[in-house]
Amino acid sequence: MTAVTGLSGRRDGFGVVGASLRRRDGFGQTRSGRGDEGTGYTIVMLEIRHLTKSYGAVKAVDDLSLTIDDGDIFGFIGLNGAGKTTTIKAVVGIHPFDSGEILINGTSISADPIAAKRQLAYIPDNPDVYEFMTGGKYLNFVADIFAVGRRERQERIEKYATGLELTDDLSSPIGSYSHGMMQKLVVIGALIHQPKLLVLDEPFVGLDPRATFVLKGYFREMTARGDSIFFSTHGLDVAQSLCDKIAIIQKGVLLEAGATGQIVGKQSLESVFLELTAEGERAQ
Ligand code: ATP
Repeated sequence: MTAVTGLSGRRDGFGVVGASLRRRDGFGQTRSGRGDEGTGYTIVMLEIRHLTKSYGAVKAVDDLSLTIDDGDIFGFIGLNGAGKTTTIKAVVGIHPFDSGEILINGTSISADPIAAKRQLAYIPDNPDVYEFMTGGKYLNFVADIFAVGRRERQERIEKYATGLELTDDLSSPIGSYSHGMMQKLVVIGALIHQPKLLVLDEPFVGLDPRATFVLKGYFREMTARGDSIFFSTHGLDVAQSLCDKIAIIQKGVLLEAGATGQIVGKQSLESVFLELTAEGERAQ
């Protein structure tokens, strides 16, 4: 089990430039600079350094540091109220935070939010989309924002809408969608611009088993391209089978982070999680 520590970045007075790199040997040594393929270094897609965020007297996130590399599927788990959504909203630039730093592929979400947001897609736990639009209009709207070309957007809409069985509904107003259909639509909207980093809050809630299976396949396609996924979940079976790495947070404090296999060992993630959170409660 290895704790994840804050990592490197290079500043030039205008924010952080150049992605952080580190050796492909786990969680140890780090270096800064621009990455080359095949050098034995991995690109740090998301770096959370000493993040702290309070709501009044409640410290929701307390000195949290995490690193997500290119190609990672990273699961973020914790009990209700642990600080997952607060962290996620800070990462995607929705919530300001009290202290710390968040870098998306080397770009600070605070110093250069537009450049950082261009590289990511975010799916909240309760997507709030324009109900008056049809699904198709919404997808074209997202594709316009991210300047996705006509041919690429058509190909991707066809691919993902077919895969998630939403094609027939794209001409209907979003207001008529079920929760699961809305979830599928925002997934397609997130994938349409091929983000370097996909951030999701409880992505599998509301999806039927077939759509869950298909979405897991899309996650694997993304990571095969070198893109990264950071998502919160209460589904420990999914986290154990899908995630290369996981982090467990409790009352805003990181309890554990590392390779799933190393954390879980021969046990189930459920038993490790229950053990760690009980220990954490006794210690906190
Ligand atoms: P869940 O699994 O229940 O979704 P979570 O891990 O996502 O929980 P957060 O929503 O980040 O947890 O909440 C962390 C803490 O911050 C909780 O104590 C919560 O009550 C508090 N909190 C979250 N949002 C606010 C807010 N807008 N105002 C005040 N307190 C908040």
